[in-house]
Amino acid sequence: MSVQSAQKTAPADTKVTPMMAQYIEIKTANPDSLLFYRMGDFYELFFEDAEVAARALGITLTKRGKHQGEDIPMCGVPVHAADDYLQKLIGLGHRVSVCEQTEDPAEAKKRGSKSVVRRDVVRLVTPGTLTEERLLDAGANNYLAALTRLRGGSLGGDAVYGLAWIDMSTGAFQVSETDDQRLGADLAQISPRELIIADNLLQESELRQTAELAGGALSPVPRAFFDSATATDRLAHYFGVKTLDGFGTFSRAELSAAAGILSYIEKTQLGERPPLDPPTRQAGAGRMLIDPATRANLELTRTLSGEKQGSLLSTIDRTVTGGGSRLLASRLAGPLIEPETISGRHDAIAFFLDNEIMREGLRQTLKGAPDMARALSRIALNRGGPRDVLAVSEGMRAVQTVLDQTGHAGAFPAEIAAARTSLEQAPHELGGELARAIKEDPPLLKRDGGFVAPGYDENLDELRALRDESRKVIARLQADYSEELGIRSLKIKHNNVLGWFIEAPTAQTEKLTADPGRFIHRQTMAGAMRFTTTELADLESRIASAGERALSIELGIFDRLADAIVAAGEALKAAAHGLSILDVSAALAKLAQEEGHVRPHVDDSRAFDITGGRHPVVERALKLSGGETFVANDAGLGPQNGAAHGCIWLITGPNMAGKSTFLRQNALIAVMAQMGAYVPADSAHIGVVDRLFSRVGAADDLARGRSTFMVEMVETAAILNQAGDRSLVILDEIGRGTATFDGLSIAWATIEHLHEVNKSRALFATHYHELTALSGKLDRLSNATVSVKEWNGDVIFLHEIVPGAADRSYGIQVAKLAGLPASVVERSRQVLSQLEEQDRQSPAESLIDELPLFAALTPTAPAATEAPVPDAALEKIDTLNPDDMTPREALEALYALKAARARSNTHN
Ligand code: ATP
Repeated sequence: MSVQSAQKTAPADTKVTPMMAQYIEIKTANPDSLLFYRMGDFYELFFEDAEVAARALGITLTKRGKHQGEDIPMCGVPVHAADDYLQKLIGLGHRVSVCEQTEDPAEAKKRGSKSVVRRDVVRLVTPGTLTEERLLDAGANNYLAALTRLRGGSLGGDAVYGLAWIDMSTGAFQVSETDDQRLGADLAQISPRELIIADNLLQESELRQTAELAGGALSPVPRAFFDSATATDRLAHYFGVKTLDGFGTFSRAELSAAAGILSYIEKTQLGERPPLDPPTRQAGAGRMLIDPATRANLELTRTLSGEKQGSLLSTIDRTVTGGGSRLLASRLAGPLIEPETISGRHDAIAFFLDNEIMREGLRQTLKGAPDMARALSRIALNRGGPRDVLAVSEGMRAVQTVLDQTGHAGAFPAEIAAARTSLEQAPHELGGELARAIKEDPPLLKRDGGFVAPGYDENLDELRALRDESRKVIARLQADYSEELGIRSLKIKHNNVLGWFIEAPTAQTEKLTADPGRFIHRQTMAGAMRFTTTELADLESRIASAGERALSIELGIFDRLADAIVAAGEALKAAAHGLSILDVSAALAKLAQEEGHVRPHVDDSRAFDITGGRHPVVERALKLSGGETFVANDAGLGPQNGAAHGCIWLITGPNMAGKSTFLRQNALIAVMAQMGAYVPADSAHIGVVDRLFSRVGAADDLARGRSTFMVEMVETAAILNQAGDRSLVILDEIGRGTATFDGLSIAWATIEHLHEVNKSRALFATHYHELTALSGKLDRLSNATVSVKEWNGDVIFLHEIVPGAADRSYGIQVAKLAGLPASVVERSRQVLSQLEEQDRQSPAESLIDELPLFAALTPTAPAATEAPVPDAALEKIDTLNPDDMTPREALEALYALKAARARSNTHN
């Protein structure tokens, strides 16, 4: 039963308990989230929420009372363990409203015995608005993104999209504008944990699919959040400025997205304002475009099975701080396209390769440095505790140490110099003050005090001494009473109801009860009696007031320090970023040194010349397994012989030889070079790649209703429609998911289109050996193959890419290695030799002489899908010679023709 239906159907006279009435009211105001309703030491969930949470958390679903004659489903989580449950629910994409008791139950009782304790939602927890250390992944950004669309603009052009994204745990706030074609890639680069989008846009299935592909939880919001007419005012209001001019200029779409995200924050944070940086614009042209399929195929941040381990990021990440790891991930997600900026990053790595001792010292310091940026955000959101203040203090100490450690170098490259400047400008005085104020290993929560270091505040020290002194006095008093009354087991104890009291076994209380003027009776227990005295009561009030006053001084100190930290927020954030930059540069230098990476030369040419290139992930896996060493390979896709455009390499070769590895390694080398890292090669010259496309392997996308072949064709279509002469295209086994002739024809036309229309640098791996004949017609197409040795009918892989074409695929040898039954292997050999015999009589290479080039067919170069596919049946007829055929062969040929014709009909 849902609460809404419970509410709607509730007749006026139905009995609803006051608590249930309160629950329903709060739930109705927070319909899109699971409501954690505080009851004593538990958060309880009711109705549908309880069913959803019980399923998601694997906890027992119980019931509590009845509503409308039906049981009310209920489940609960203990408050002390709530974070773990929250983490699980948020991880599954749920949103949670946390509803607390906002008054003391004793207060409620005063209003009448049946009155309900006041409660209110104090926080809406959503995947994109987390700040708690335990709920966050230290090495990953936690982006909340907003997507909006503006139709056409005043000139009535195409729709434009505005994107805004923030990491609330660090305050980073960026915006950009994009279009239909780039939207998927831009969203994939951000990879938001939560994406907010107007509910009306979410109704459009195509847009919804693109949004879903970005991977985060989708949160629909009212359209009004994105109202572009009021966007500027709302932004200015949030940042407390009159005009946004000081932040730069923004387009209408960017403003609308930025305002949308702020509205959402205001809604979810219920009045608290996270300390966001002013929005900065991410230039659309400033990043290499990598669409979601390519990102997934290349396993940049996760493997195809969703693991971090085995991805490029996890292989190259040698950072030692959370901030460094996040910066590395965002650099990998958005490689640059400006040679100068890229080269600036390479300079920083070169610096740390030259200054190894400095680098290692710096890494040692950074290893112990806390996550200053995230602590700062929690403090500013009023969610910080003493440990966050300590984190800022220790962060500042690391800043000072790093400055000392790096101070003696002569000249710094620009990137390092800028990072050091932000460290120099950090609030060092505040750092010193914090270090004096907070003691080592403070408690998690500020509410009980005990975090201010001794010696920091005189008054506090005095009160603490008084409090501690009073405790000693109590111990003395206990000894005195015990001796005076002759009761050895007499104790002075404390509890919340009675405060301090004297406790003695009932059998020995004669002397106490005999003097009621002095020993005032408080309580009789089984076997013991409790008393108080004026002396004890005096002492008690001294202790209590000293404790209370000490706590209020500590809380005052906390607030003052927190205010000072927030006031210095900008400088602290800049310093934290400076540390992250140093961490990333030092880590990439370490990687380069350990793995033998070199500095790539990146410029504005169309070059793509790699010598001794390696696949960083496969190489590492081989190294760890202690088996084979990785065989390095060259790639030369740059323009040859004075041509204006780069080349296509068509790679044929046996199964398992290393074609896919070679394809991917070149894409990864381009990504690494342009993110500003060194690359796994002996040398690399790369003309900036503006878009990277990869279609590798076959994967079903049944959830979206697409078969393997459909996915393959959708991705191929995207490449052929979008790749340009600055792009790098990696195509592995196009056309494998359909009948041989269809597949061959599609692969054929795809290569022609890439060569004649896209003019991209490309690597194309295939088992259709027939395609190698194309090199005779296409001047920028070269054939390459992977060498193997045959030994006693088995195949030995050399993994070496050499010029030329493979004559065969060795599929049967590989199948034998895989353990196919010997009888099947033998039978395959027989069938293969018969098929090869037939093929010799009608070689498909003859097509090359008969088919005009793609470009000749399509002088105006429309999309590839318009290129005619060769009709297999017609082609086959030309190869038949009826005079040489037996009646049986003729009949078989006729059947084969019928089948081929049927296939062409289906696919045309
Ligand atoms: P298929 O045609 O069956 O898809 P393939 O030619 O694409 O095969 P890969 O998947 O690239 O082959 O490589 C198969 C295995 O060979 C890899 O998992 C890796 O272990 C090894 N390998 C590939 N390239 C190299 C190399 N250059 N040096 C050493 N080992 C390699």
